Amino acid sequence: MRGFFTPIVGALAALFATFAVPVSAQEEEPRWSIAIHGGAGTIARENMTEEQDAAYRAALQRALDAGAAVLREGGTAMDAIQAAIEPMEDDPLFNAGRGAVLTWDGAIELDASIMDGRTRDAGAVAGVTGVRHPIDLARKVMTDSPHVMLSGKGAETFAEEQGLETMPLDWFETERRRESLERMKAQSLSAIDVDVKFGTVGAVAIDQDGNMAAGTSTGGMTGKRWGRIGDAPIIGAGTYADNRSCAVSATGWGEFFIRVGVAQEICTRLRYRYQLEIDAAQREVPLTSDGEPSYIIHASEFALEAGQAQEEIDAVIGEVGALGGDGGVIVITSEGHALFSMNTSGMYRGRMTSDGPGEVAIYSDE
Ligand code: ASP
Repeated sequence: MRGFFTPIVGALAALFATFAVPVSAQEEEPRWSIAIHGGAGTIARENMTEEQDAAYRAALQRALDAGAAVLREGGTAMDAIQAAIEPMEDDPLFNAGRGAVLTWDGAIELDASIMDGRTRDAGAVAGVTGVRHPIDLARKVMTDSPHVMLSGKGAETFAEEQGLETMPLDWFETERRRESLERMKAQSLSAIDVDVKFGTVGAVAIDQDGNMAAGTSTGGMTGKRWGRIGDAPIIGAGTYADNRSCAVSATGWGEFFIRVGVAQEICTRLRYRYQLEIDAAQREVPLTSDGEPSYIIHASEFALEAGQAQEEIDAVIGEVGALGGDGGVIVITSEGHALFSMNTSGMYRGRMTSDGPGEVAIYSDE
């Protein structure tokens, strides 16, 4: 049908200007996009010093730049998200890798997951200790094991066999996290009260070939015990990527994100919304005298608008809120839109596309 369409594209485009995202949208789409987060939560301007604010923004910018450099040079979305997450795992500002929160017993148990939207291959680790970059281990699980998810001692043995970098346990632990655990115990606070924010890190990207990827890495929640695992290492809850719709990484109160199946729910909703919109556009196409549509809109000519995708994403975060949970997500759509949604007062975040210089932000009103 495209051959048929071509000679009269101008006339038809004018005629149908109201029904479809223009054909030219294809050319306008960014060639690559990346979004990152460093956790959502009760993050208020009045509680941040200028230095803290600047330190978070600089750390986010470094991660964003590292991921964007990979994409700009034609690298894969998988490599880009890994490049963005690694520096945040090393940075004690974030609750992932070094600087992760402490368990009830004062240990550090790390969770991470990664997903390739091209193949829907995925890898995840839960409750691992001593591995410098849990996101790299998650990728190894994906590429070098027959499994999707490994946990605890077994995951550590696998890390060793794969030659992944390990660090002494005191390298991971920070004074600030030790103090949070002590305060939690002394004042009988919940994990939410003691932290007021989640510091999980994540990244999502689409590369120049249109392939997408998502990854998330965390220490979980302060004072967790009994081997508690949150949403971050669960494919479909904290992380999901599918070239047909989107890539998602979440941060927030993990139990609620698991119950809603946030990351996959967003991708599924986007896939169906796309179908609804293209069907609606098709119904606007005039019929021939035989009662047949005079033109069939091809998927390659139709794009979901950023606002339409945002509605679906906000609806899923709304569900988390309705159940009593809080947090946020970063999303890249297959059109290359880099979107955020949160029901908290802030989320450390950043986004960049091939079209512009990008941005980092902290508060929800930015
Ligand atoms: N979602 C993480 C968890 O529940 C926490 C976070 O986002 O910081 O383990």
